[in-house]
Amino acid sequence: MAVIDEIKTRVDIVEVVSNYVSLQKAGRNFQALCPFHAEKHPSFFVFPERQSWHCFGACNTGGDVFSFLMKKENIDFGQALRLLAERTGVSLVSDRKESKTDEENVRLFEINEVAAEYYHHLLKTNRGAEVARNYLTQRGLLPQTIDNFQLGFSLDSWDSLLQYLTGKGYKVEELVTAGLIAEKENKNVYDWFRNKLMFPIRNIDGRVVGFGARALDESLPKYINSPQTPIFDKGGIIYGIDRAKLAIRKQDLAIIVEGYMDVLMAHQNGWENVVASMGTAITEKQFNVLRKLTKNLLLALDADVAGEEATRRGIEIAIETSEKRVPMIMPVKKWPGKGKTTKIDYLKTPDMNVKVVKLPSGKDPDEIIKEDILLWRALVEKAVPVLDFVVESVVSQVDVKQARDKSLAVDRLLPIISKVEDPIKQAHYIRVLGRKLDISEESLQKALKGYEIQEHRKLRQEAERQFSSAPFIAQFSRSEKFRPVEEYCLALLFQYPELRTEIEGLRPEYFQYTENRELFIQWQQNPDLASFRLSLVPALNEYLDQLLSEGSRFPIPQKENERRHNLIECIRRLKERWLKALAVEREELLSLEAEKGGVDGQLSKLEEQGLEVSTGLKEVFSKQKGKGI
Ligand SMILES: [Zn+2]
Repeated sequence: MAVIDEIKTRVDIVEVVSNYVSLQKAGRNFQALCPFHAEKHPSFFVFPERQSWHCFGACNTGGDVFSFLMKKENIDFGQALRLLAERTGVSLVSDRKESKTDEENVRLFEINEVAAEYYHHLLKTNRGAEVARNYLTQRGLLPQTIDNFQLGFSLDSWDSLLQYLTGKGYKVEELVTAGLIAEKENKNVYDWFRNKLMFPIRNIDGRVVGFGARALDESLPKYINSPQTPIFDKGGIIYGIDRAKLAIRKQDLAIIVEGYMDVLMAHQNGWENVVASMGTAITEKQFNVLRKLTKNLLLALDADVAGEEATRRGIEIAIETSEKRVPMIMPVKKWPGKGKTTKIDYLKTPDMNVKVVKLPSGKDPDEIIKEDILLWRALVEKAVPVLDFVVESVVSQVDVKQARDKSLAVDRLLPIISKVEDPIKQAHYIRVLGRKLDISEESLQKALKGYEIQEHRKLRQEAERQFSSAPFIAQFSRSEKFRPVEEYCLALLFQYPELRTEIEGLRPEYFQYTENRELFIQWQQNPDLASFRLSLVPALNEYLDQLLSEGSRFPIPQKENERRHNLIECIRRLKERWLKALAVEREELLSLEAEKGGVDGQLSKLEEQGLEVSTGLKEVFSKQKGKGI
């Protein structure tokens, strides 16, 4: 999967936007005062199902999570990409660059290991490390644990590690590649970690791949990691896995916590099957590593109120975007610096048994283990299946005495329950839900049937729509309806620049995927493929390669006039899609206004726009008829 796609599957627009504006629930969507223009009545909407946003007010514009960040932070696509990659733990280093020779990687492991020894030595002996030693004692860590995990300390100095390692004969550029030395644009180099408590991070074979570090004073951020390097891929690393793997196999159970301290305290107390997810969402990569060791996962993650809220939203989004996947609770770092929270995400989990430990609110596993190991044991034993947790958490957020709330909870949970394939299990959840909401099982079964029929119908309509499409479009992948049209359109343009004469009616906003929109904009300014490439950030270049190499999937006709015809048809479809999306969003807004019983100035503006939309659609359709497609 290309990095851009990987980022998209991991990011939630509701969460990102809610860090900038205060979103109010509005039906299935969210609304707020527009962050881009001054207004008194909210006309800014976020649509979780489509992962898009739109301002129906003065801006009259919208897009996806990339375009939101670009506009809000006033950054370009490459910067938005980096920001989201950082947040989702996706590596922007392309696969080609990652597959360095083993020899080079061996050198990087070695450098990190020498640094780990150095930091460890400083922690034990250096006068400057007094504060770190005190901190560890106060947190209750024994010297043996500190040695086992080789904790360390980096001096409050710009070059102590640099001096030490170059003194040992390592080249500065190697140290930069290893992620230990940072390089400024003016080529000045300095220690990446300064005045920090150091946690060496090892891969499953026990080799040091990088470090986590904690500030011991008030400096921010509190935690930093090694930067992404050929051996340090945050998305795939599990803290403590090297020391936990045997215990996980033996006990056939892995317990996942969030922090380094949780892992250290657990191991110190004999719970050696505990590992940490490194604060990022549990990625498919991490999951695959654990799956090889056990089928039983236990999530012991802090689930505070904010977490439950996110959980609720996460479910809705996940259902729309994935099928036959099992819900997982994901720890997610709020952004920027808003504490942590959790959300439900979906992972493919064949035969996995995932449970959730319900922690007392506000307590970390570290504290519980230290204060009351028996309580910890009891909590682990009482862990509930992830679906039970979801049901409970959704039900706990509604007033079960209100009819409206009841149906809200049912609406949220039926899609999840309908995905439970085992009929006995499914019946069990129906029963549980009925009891909790005081609804008869019969009516829930009925509702479930109704939902399934509706889903089935949707799928069928979708399939029919696909097959009734123009022949060349019918060959496109069925999974993502419009993406192939966007890609085909770009592939035609990039490879046959003479088609440029046809793009007059093609507006950047017709491209729903920001990466496509970005490519189109850049290409418009720079139609020569070679120099166009030079203007792109590496991730976009990678994406462009992928797009152009998929020519066999999207056959491009030999004849010029056929190519021209296909391009025109693509543009027509993109325009139609854009107008339809506008119409749908407008519809939702209108029904929302009707519900509230209030109509204000915003509506008349919408009406105007509505007129534009329907005239536009009519035009598109008449064009379609005229062409006989
Ligand atoms: Zn606006």
